[in-house]
Amino acid sequence: MGRETLLTILVILLGGLAAQPLALWPRHPLPDEAPRIAERRAWLRLWLPVVPALLVAAWLFGWALREPDPVHDRFDHGMLVMACLPFAVIVLRAVLRATWVLLSEPADLPICTAGLLQPRIVFSPFLARALDEGQIRAAWEHEQAHVRHRDPLRIWLAQIATDLQWPWPWARDRFIAWLEILECARDDEARSRGASGVDLAAAILATVRRSAEARRPHEALWPTTADAALIGDVQLLQSRIVRLLSPMPEIAGTQVHGARQDLMAAAGLAALLAIACILGAVYGERILHPLLLWTWTV
Ligand SMILES: [Zn+2]
Repeated sequence: MGRETLLTILVILLGGLAAQPLALWPRHPLPDEAPRIAERRAWLRLWLPVVPALLVAAWLFGWALREPDPVHDRFDHGMLVMACLPFAVIVLRAVLRATWVLLSEPADLPICTAGLLQPRIVFSPFLARALDEGQIRAAWEHEQAHVRHRDPLRIWLAQIATDLQWPWPWARDRFIAWLEILECARDDEARSRGASGVDLAAAILATVRRSAEARRPHEALWPTTADAALIGDVQLLQSRIVRLLSPMPEIAGTQVHGARQDLMAAAGLAALLAIACILGAVYGERILHPLLLWTWTV
């Protein structure tokens, strides 16, 4: 079998097996923290079950670097392909859903942030006419926060991470929990930049009234957009409005702290992937050879 073909099968099979135990982990409620910190924690929880699969993939890439093409090991091709099939379905489903979102039109919402690589704010002039100056500024600041954090791209990636943990419902729960806290975090960022909570609440309510369809992401069977909207999940509207009408807690310094945490997490993951790749190059054949031979002998 060709090296790249075997590598693909092994990444799907062993990566899928590595992802499943953590995907089964039930969702625990987030601790009561500032939304900007809780949003990052929820984001990491979303990705945690995918990390073992990424490490296995890096290890296999390391193995493939020193493997001849085609691979000489004896193994049962049929058994390997059959074992890989359930995980291949999960990967195919995730790819199709991600592609569908890429090809879909922007959400039909009066205001949202759209665009994966170059996010831009879509603001309906009909909505703008219904708002006063303070409300427009508050809604704009909320969307600007989505732009600064490239939230459409993050929502798209989070959807892929969630789909790779299909069919377990806890993965979907973690995705929804992250979307909920994301909106509160962006509300706080808008308020920290001078937007009034009362104006933002009024803008959100006006947007809900003008929305052709209320977004209820946990009920969507097929994702149609990765856009970051102003209104988020309508079921949580009441608690969000109450929060906006309350004084904002002190959040100074959390943005810098959070950015540093993100950098450290990314650097840590990159280091782990590099180590896994090196280990795969050094010890990959020693471990994979008996495994492949086992499929031949049973
Ligand atoms: Zn939003």
